Order: sequence, then structure tokens, then C-alpha cells
Amino acid sequence: KDAGRSTHTVFVPDMMEDNKRRLLIANSISGAIKHNEFSVHYQAKVAPDESVVGYEALIRWKSESLGMVSPAEFIPIAEQSGKILSITKWVIKKVCQELDQILAMHTGKMVVSLNLSAHDIKNASLVDYIRAMFDKYRVDTSHIEFEVTESAYLENFDVANEFLKQIRDMGCSIALDDFGAGYSSLGYLTQIHLNTLKIDKQFVDNLNVSKRSTLVTKTIIEMAKQLNLQICAEGVETREQAEFLILNGCHQLQGYLFAKPMNLQDLLKR
Ligand code: C2E
Ligand code: CA
Ligand code: CA
Ligand code: CA
Repeated sequence: KDAGRSTHTVFVPDMMEDNKRRLLIANSISGAIKHNEFSVHYQAKVAPDESVVGYEALIRWKSESLGMVSPAEFIPIAEQSGKILSITKWVIKKVCQELDQILAMHTGKMVVSLNLSAHDIKNASLVDYIRAMFDKYRVDTSHIEFEVTESAYLENFDVANEFLKQIRDMGCSIALDDFGAGYSSLGYLTQIHLNTLKIDKQFVDNLNVSKRSTLVTKTIIEMAKQLNLQICAEGVETREQAEFLILNGCHQLQGYLFAKPMNLQDLLKR
């Protein structure tokens, strides 16, 4: 049905395997939380001088039965099967618990970013949960940022905006993730409470590929600057990309060129 009307698809055994795996993943999530199969990795974000200015928290799943499962695979399944909220809560709690150890590694201003799914934003009770975790673990909210994608605003703009306003009122900052990758509507940018724009990896990848794609990236950066937003570029893998982004005024860079996501133990060792 997803392909639209007047198309047909032959049902091959592969699709059955696919559906089986999706079901298996969906049904394994609750147990995975209970049996401590999830963990959080942290990927550094750096300033142009390469000093660390923050970390993005990224969930990892080492399943007893399935092995390593990528969040790119299980997060969408969790969203569709109604399990995402429990995952989001788990990550929030974990980061609150580990935050002090991360902050202790650095002297400068440090921000840890958490990803929120578009589905989370519809749940007003999540705000209460976040507040409770911040209280319980005595979190200084100026160290916390939430990353949301534009899809969060698609379904119900007012609901999303109200959710994120409450988060902002607590003292956290908000980043718009994967900017340019989805159904970008520039109209949003003037209406939502944002601190940071994260330029999607696809724009970073296309730098120096063609004059036109380079120009598009340049224009996004320029626009964000005019709107007084912080700009973070994700997926920076080469020196050339980094140099271009810095030259054009990006405030933060994130990517394998600087650091891969690491667990807390490895991070503390570095
Ligand atoms: P994202 O939020 O856009 O996160 C960036 C992804 O790019 C991460 O993949 C990161 O490991 C990867 N990455 C970072 N630098 C580079 C680079 O230089 N090159 C390449 N090729 N990749 C790079 P990861 O950790 O597999 O996460 C994939 C997606 O899963 C995330 O995309 C995010 O949408 C989702 N996700 C991960 N953790 C969470 C979470 O705790 N909650 C929610 N709701 N979603 C999460
Ligand atoms: Ca993100
Ligand atoms: Ca991203
Ligand atoms: Ca992305």
C-alpha cells in the first residue's frame, strides 16, 4: 500500500523474513530494557579549534538473541509499535545518571544532547518524567539539549511547540536535527523555539561534489546565522569538509573525523 495505487508487488519470501524480523525486534524491546541490553554511546561535538563542546547520546542495543541491532533499524520499529516512549525514558534516565562523569572530564561549557522521536513529543506526560529525572539526579539543565527532527512538527505543530517550549522553560536547549533531509519547511524556522540547527550529513557529504550542492550548504549556513542559530554540521569525515564548514561559519562539527560514538568507559579513558 505504501507504494500507492495501481501498483502491485510480488510477495517474496524475503519480505516474510523482513516482517518476521521486525516483529521479533518489536517484541524484544521490553525485555531488552528489563535485561539491561541497551547502553548509551557518546559522540563528541567540537568547536572550530577542535575543543569538545558537547556530546550526542546515541543508544546501542546488544541483544542476547539478535546480536547488535542498529538504532537506525530498531528506532523506527519502536516508533511504529508504540515502544519508543519507554526507550526514550530509558535513555533520559541513563544520561542523567552518567552526566556528572561526563561533565567532570571538561572545564568549559559542555552540553549533552538527547534525541527525541516525533512520537515522544505528542506525550505531554514525558515532560513530567523529564522534570522528575532532572530533580532526582540534580541535573543542571543548562547542560542538556534535545534534538528533534522536523517531522515532530508535521502532525501537530501546536502540540510539538508547546512540548518544546516547556523543555526550554526548564533551561534546556533545542536543536533541529537532520535539517534539510526531510520535508523542510522554512516557515517553521521563524516560529519555533530553537537554539541550534544541525545540518544533515547529506549536505556535508555533497560538499565539493558539485558547485550547486556546495552553494546550497553555504546558503543554509548563512540563513541559520541570520536567524541567530548555532550551527552544527553532522557526519564530518574529511579535513576538506571541516575546513569548508569552519570557513563558512559553522559553530560545531561532529563526525568520524573527530570522534566516533564511544561508551562511557572508553570516553573516560581518552
Ligand atoms: P542521528 O540522530 O542523525 O545520529 C547521527 C548518526 O550518524 C549516528 O548513527 C552516528 O553514529 C552517525 N555518525 C556520526 N558521525 C558520522 C560520520 O562521520 N559518518 C557516518 N557515516 N556516520 C556518522 P547511529 O548511532 O547509528 O544512530 C542512527 C539514528 O538512530 C540517529 O540518527 C537517530 O535518528 C536514531 N537514534 C540513535 N539513538 C537514539 C535515541 O537515543 N533516541 C532516538 N529517538 N533516536 C536515536
Ligand atoms: Ca541526532
Ligand atoms: Ca542527525
Ligand atoms: Ca541523520
